[in-house]
Formats: sequence, C-alpha cells, structure tokens
Amino acid sequence: MTTHNFLGLEDWQVWTQHEGTGSCVYPVRGNTELRVTLGFTAQEPLDLDHRDTGGHRALVHERLGHLGGDIPRLLEAMHRAPDFLFDAMAQVRMDRWTSGRVTLLGDAACCPSPLSGQGSSLALVGGYVLADELGAGRGDIASALAAYERRMRPFARLNQDLATENPGAGPSEASMERAKNAVGLDVERHGGAVSEGAHRVRA
Ligand SMILES: Cc1cc2nc3c(=O)[nH]c(=O)nc-3n(C[C@H](O)[C@H](O)[C@H](O)COP(=O)(O)OP(=O)(O)OC[C@H]3O[C@@H](n4cnc5c(N)ncnc54)[C@H](O)[C@@H]3O)c2cc1C
Repeated sequence: MTTHNFLGLEDWQVWTQHEGTGSCVYPVRGNTELRVTLGFTAQEPLDLDHRDTGGHRALVHERLGHLGGDIPRLLEAMHRAPDFLFDAMAQVRMDRWTSGRVTLLGDAACCPSPLSGQGSSLALVGGYVLADELGAGRGDIASALAAYERRMRPFARLNQDLATENPGAGPSEASMERAKNAVGLDVERHGGAVSEGAHRVRA
C-alpha cells in the first residue's frame, strides 16, 4: 500500500521483524510517498474471500495491532490506503516451463517471492540465457528450449530456496553466494565476439 511520507524517510528502507510479524517501509517518488508492506506468518491456511478487502484489513490489524513503534500509524494508514492489496507470499514452481515452441520466462516460470528477492535477476538472466540458446541452436527450437531450461533451473531453484531456508531471519551469506553464482553466462561460446555491454559473469 502507499501513504504519504509521514515518517520523513529519505532514501532509507526500514524493515522490522517480531515474533512472526514483519514490516517493510521505503520512500518513493522523491521521498514524498511511502510504500508499505505489513505481514504475518499464518500457521494455518486462511479461509478468506479474495474480494473481502475489509476482512483482509481487519485481519492484518488483528495480527499486528499489539505492536508498537511506527506500526499503529502504518495500520491507520492501511485502513485509508486506496491501493491496499492482501495476498500470500507464494512462489511459482513448475515441473516444466516448455511446451512445444512455447516457453516461460521470469515470474511466469519461477517467481521467487519477496522473501528471497532475485525476481528481476531471474527474469533478466533468463531472457539472456534464452536468447543465447536460441542463437546457438540455429533453428533447432526444441533443443534450444531444453538447453535454456537445463541452464536456468539450478539458478532458479537455489534462488527460490533462499525464501524458505531460514524464514525467521533470512538466508545465510553462503547460500546467497551459491544462488547468485549458479548460472554461467558463457559469452565465449561465440568465439569471443562479445559486445561492449556483455560481461563474463558467473552471476
Ligand atoms: C513491489 C515489488 C517489489 C519488488 N522488488 C524487487 C526487488 O527489489 N528485486 C528483485 O529482484 N525483484 C523485485 N520484485 C520482483 C520483480 O519485479 C519481478 O520478479 C520481475 O519484474 C519479473 O519480471 P517479468 O518480466 O517476469 O514479469 P513482469 O515484470 O511482471 O512483466 C510482465 C509484463 O507482462 C505484461 N502483461 C501481462 N499480461 C499481459 C498480456 N495478456 N498481454 C500483454 N502484456 C501482458 C505486464 O503488464 C508486464 O508489463 C518486486 C516485485 C514487486 C511487485
């Protein structure tokens, strides 16, 4: 949700975590507005009508209403926010991304969730690898798409796993290193003919 920058944040994000609740607040639009995410861990599936935004707001308030700090004011802002959205943290995990000449990329293939981050990286690297394999395949679309999946899947899985490794406090540095290095962008395959913007990345 969005509210005006009543915290006076200047180019700073503020994250809090407390006993299964969390918040993330950061300023946007020249520090004039705040984007706010409020969350809680649900031990059980929630039986909610997805159209009942009044019920969603009430539930968030119920779960975070006992907290101090800035949370009371953020909850107050939540009740007035025109862009309030309530949803579960979820990932897209699919057995296969490709069917015939159609393949999936980015969030459609392997959305990782804000708990891991890396959605933009998966989308951008996926686009690069797909283009690379299509170029290398020289018209053999089936082999190119299979190669794209083979290269991307370990990278996608390790990055998605960052969300679940340690939900209370985030993944270890070692896991983050391993995840971001789990794909090779082999620019030398094309005889070293690398355009100026391309880098050799074990990203
Ligand atoms: C609030 C927020 C914060 C985020 N912060 C981060 C971050 O800090 N770091 C990070 O790595 N990732 C972050 N992400 C995730 C990241 O934005 C996504 O993982 C990434 O944008 C996925 O790229 P994509 O190209 O797969 O999908 P998108 O960026 O969603 O692009 C899909 C495009 O397809 C268009 N589209 C949809 N349906 C149709 C249709 N039928 N016809 C034509 N066009 C259509 C959409 O309008 C959209 O432009 C964040 C996401 C959100 C929502």
